[in-house]
Amino acid sequence: MIFTRVPSAGSIRLLPPPNVYHINRHSYIIGLGTVRATELPGHLMNRNKGRDAHGKLTIAIIGGGFTGATLAVQLLRHATQSLSVVVIERGPTRGRGVAYGTLQGWHLLNVRAARMSALADDPDHFLRWAQTNFDSRVGPESFLPRRVYGQYIESLLQETEESHPAEFEWKCDQAVSLARSGDKAEIFLHSGNTVVADKVILALGNFPPSNPPLPGRTPNSPRYIPFAWSAAALEQVEQESNILLIGSGLTSVDLAVALRAREFRGTIHILSRRGLLPHKHTAVTKWPAFWNENSPKTAFGLMRLVRKQVKEAGQHGTDWRAVMNSLRPFAQRIWQSLPIQEKRRFLRHVRPYWEVHRHRIAPEIGGLIGYQLLNHHIQAHAGRIIAYLEDKDGVEVSYRDRKSGKEQQLRVDRVINCTGPETDCRRLDNPLLASLQNQQLVRPDPLFLGLDVSPDGALIDANGAPSDFLYSVGPPRKGSLWETTAVPEIREQVAELVEHLLGISFPGATEPAKTKLSKVLHSPVAQEV
Ligand SMILES: Cc1cc2nc3c(=O)[nH]c(=O)nc-3n(C[C@H](O)[C@H](O)[C@H](O)COP(=O)(O)OP(=O)(O)OC[C@H]3O[C@@H](n4cnc5c(N)ncnc54)[C@H](O)[C@@H]3O)c2cc1C
Repeated sequence: MIFTRVPSAGSIRLLPPPNVYHINRHSYIIGLGTVRATELPGHLMNRNKGRDAHGKLTIAIIGGGFTGATLAVQLLRHATQSLSVVVIERGPTRGRGVAYGTLQGWHLLNVRAARMSALADDPDHFLRWAQTNFDSRVGPESFLPRRVYGQYIESLLQETEESHPAEFEWKCDQAVSLARSGDKAEIFLHSGNTVVADKVILALGNFPPSNPPLPGRTPNSPRYIPFAWSAAALEQVEQESNILLIGSGLTSVDLAVALRAREFRGTIHILSRRGLLPHKHTAVTKWPAFWNENSPKTAFGLMRLVRKQVKEAGQHGTDWRAVMNSLRPFAQRIWQSLPIQEKRRFLRHVRPYWEVHRHRIAPEIGGLIGYQLLNHHIQAHAGRIIAYLEDKDGVEVSYRDRKSGKEQQLRVDRVINCTGPETDCRRLDNPLLASLQNQQLVRPDPLFLGLDVSPDGALIDANGAPSDFLYSVGPPRKGSLWETTAVPEIREQVAELVEHLLGISFPGATEPAKTKLSKVLHSPVAQEV
């Protein structure tokens, strides 16, 4: 039997598919009869409750990838009050998401082990865990398999579950809508169940990509694979075929690595507007911080500043990576210092170059891709696709070459969409976000990079007011923070949100958390990105 409370106390509304309706705090209707709340089965009363008579705070987290999982772990580790945490995750894995759900050993982290602790207040946590549980030879500079990192997050979840059996619940379900009911939030799940909470945190991760413009492609083009991370993406690829990856970022690199690991023997074409592939990490010496509040507030002014530093770095025997590393701890502040038209200019002109220099790949992966490019097993192209023609034997993709301006053709067997995540939430086919937008509880940020949030992560509604119960953490905060995708940034956000929600400072903190955490980020190790 499914028990569901109606969105607003006092009114009874039929909702599919519940058969329990809330009348007031004490009474519910089940089917055709009415019962007092105290007559409901005990396990149902204990479930899905908001702050109860004893002042228990219930926090629901929608999304159980890295962000949602570590938020749950940190909330329960630091709770000083009666707390209940419910994580709602639609996928089968816990704490892994797309990034750490891969089973492919060649899919390596693109951040060194020293920087990958999930816990902002224990920066060496992952390093110690990996040395104990994976390989004692792991060092701070190692780039470990992402599946090992997934095991790490799962182990954190398991510890939390064992130490807080009554306070922690993991629900394998999809949140499809949400309503405010008095001082509670009710989350409606795909299964028909409901979760009632005091605070709701959206930890939704990156949204799936949109389809790039491919004139000539129809909805029934079987050789086009719209989502690179789908299970079917690689299964449909024959060993000897030629393949086109649209987009040349980390997703394409991942697919190219996975294809080779499956002994794919055809040619991999990679096509994007500029044909730029991510650079690889190399060891560099530390470069001093150079950005400050008086630095230029324009995209091109910043470019000039960085170029000047790169030139100086070269004269001192190091390279641009050291300059990028020294910029990283300031990236969010730099972004926030730019006027909106300069942010737009950055997105239009600088972003592709920023992405390939900032989001680098492990040296081993860089070596593999470099070797394949040299042998033409991978071919990178720069241009704009102008036509897509699919017949029974393959696909002909025409593109306008960026350099020559001439039309070029590629004949391939499959085309896989490896463009990055869609960030404009108006364009997404996502019932939860649609429900939130329809109720005017959330709005996109002005640059359509995600959701509009206040500095503490509270979602901003359609009228510009920050929510007192709804928060976002992780990639959808890109509009306000820019850097909000990788573990080093997300764990800090998680820590700050925990402090905000619980009204605490992390143990040992003698100064405000932000200062303490930014110290972690500014530490010498942190600058070795
Ligand atoms: C391939 C790849 C490799 C990466 N490698 C690194 C790396 O090496 N180092 C690094 O620091 N960062 C890396 N990143 C960045 C990565 O984004 C973050 O490290 C982190 O994984 C983001 O976690 P998340 O929980 O915010 O998002 P996700 O992992 O995407 O998790 C979001 C979860 O929310 C769930 N969800 C969404 N909507 C609903 C709903 N309505 N109901 C229920 N569940 C829902 C989804 O099923 C998903 O599991 C990588 C990213 C990718 C894609």
